[in-house]
Amino acid sequence: MKPTQNTPKRAILLVRISDDKAEDARGVGRQEADGRALADRLGWTIAEVITENDTSAFKRRKVMLPDGSTALRTVRPGFRNALDKLSSGARDGLIADDLDRVARDPRDLEDLIDVVEQRHIPAIATTGSMRLDNDAGITMARVMVAIANKSSRDTRRRVARKHQELAEEGKPGGGGFRGYGFTRNGMEVIPAEAKVIRWMAERILDPVEPWALNRIAADLERRGVPSATGAKWSGRSVRSIVTKPSVAGLRAHKGEVVGPAVWSAILERDVWEAVCATLAGRAGSTDLTLKRWLTGALWCPLCRHSLTGWQGNHGPRYWCATPLGGCGKIAIKADRAEAEVATRVLDLLTKPNILQRLTAIATTSVTEDVRRELAEDEAQLKQLAGMWARKELTFAEYREARAIIEDRVKESRTLVQSSAPRVLRSLLAGDVRKGWERLTPAGKREVVLTLLPDGYEVGPHDRSRGNAFDPRRLTPRAALAA
Ligand SMILES: [Zn+2]
Repeated sequence: MKPTQNTPKRAILLVRISDDKAEDARGVGRQEADGRALADRLGWTIAEVITENDTSAFKRRKVMLPDGSTALRTVRPGFRNALDKLSSGARDGLIADDLDRVARDPRDLEDLIDVVEQRHIPAIATTGSMRLDNDAGITMARVMVAIANKSSRDTRRRVARKHQELAEEGKPGGGGFRGYGFTRNGMEVIPAEAKVIRWMAERILDPVEPWALNRIAADLERRGVPSATGAKWSGRSVRSIVTKPSVAGLRAHKGEVVGPAVWSAILERDVWEAVCATLAGRAGSTDLTLKRWLTGALWCPLCRHSLTGWQGNHGPRYWCATPLGGCGKIAIKADRAEAEVATRVLDLLTKPNILQRLTAIATTSVTEDVRRELAEDEAQLKQLAGMWARKELTFAEYREARAIIEDRVKESRTLVQSSAPRVLRSLLAGDVRKGWERLTPAGKREVVLTLLPDGYEVGPHDRSRGNAFDPRRLTPRAALAA
């Protein structure tokens, strides 16, 4: 918001008629009086009073959607009328009893924020619930929109999941003990347990003081956190929980990830991979679920889908998997493709000019975006705390907004912690070939994707050449040196 904002001379006062019990005490007359009093204090001139009829009879109407179907939607002609006049410039300010209740649909609120920002028009609620006349207020409103959008998305996701439950594909195996974090049918996330799983991941990935699995188990025991079976926590059970593909919303078969699952993820995929990579590195063993490290780096030239590590009848392959939406026509032997890419990567890595460029990447820009986002989020947290301290927010609002931003901050921190520069730094620190052998599968993938962000295209198998592996099938989609 520009500081040069003018004092509104033709402002709108928006009042609501509502049959909501709590609103009765604040009738239309009272709302208008409050609004005019606020305008006087601020030196605004009210040019028009618009009434929003918010009684239940007017609340929902059948509207035609773009696809021709009809749906019941809350329509707010008064609010829309006010928005139109503000965006056309006919009016230059808005006072309403309670902005977030007038614009209850997050889409409405987003529209209002747009108008406020583009035309530098202030919008203020008499109840003090929202002030769109400074950056902090707009930040807060955006947070509110995010909260509202998130809850409606969650609802959509729940509905979508119900539909998907009908589909056979991707259903959990069923039977036996339930997996920690999920209900017995494996379809629903148990929030309290999901929280424990996220905490485990944080401790494992802690950049300053990563916890050993036994320490995590001991802490859970000390706090009396129950396990899924009631058995005592152990390092082994913690490992088994956090490395299960299901916590990242992935389905696995015989230790290979075979695709997205129908249930929700508890850990972001990146976080989960970082956890698996970290644990695999600690134990000095490879993690089966991440063995197919070229997943995401190989592409089908026919339908442009990404190839996925797949356990087929003829051994592990990378396949343009039809169950994941691919054409099914391209497949390549996994171990041969991996060996070929490893050879090429090591050739590249030992070229002095490439090494130089990688060293530059390792120390600078790859995670710049994430770092910037992190800094912005951290600034926003401070701003929120200030707003709460100045009583511009209730504690409940503050807590809710803070939780959302904090989640994002945690993700960014994990991302900064787990992405390519760290892997590259360790790789370039010593003998590159030996370093490569020591890399976890996830680390190898990060290096490949840093060298070739667009990965390789896998050409069709030429049957006239028999069964022999033809390395020429792998062509870079874009090269670092290009
Ligand atoms: Zn394909």
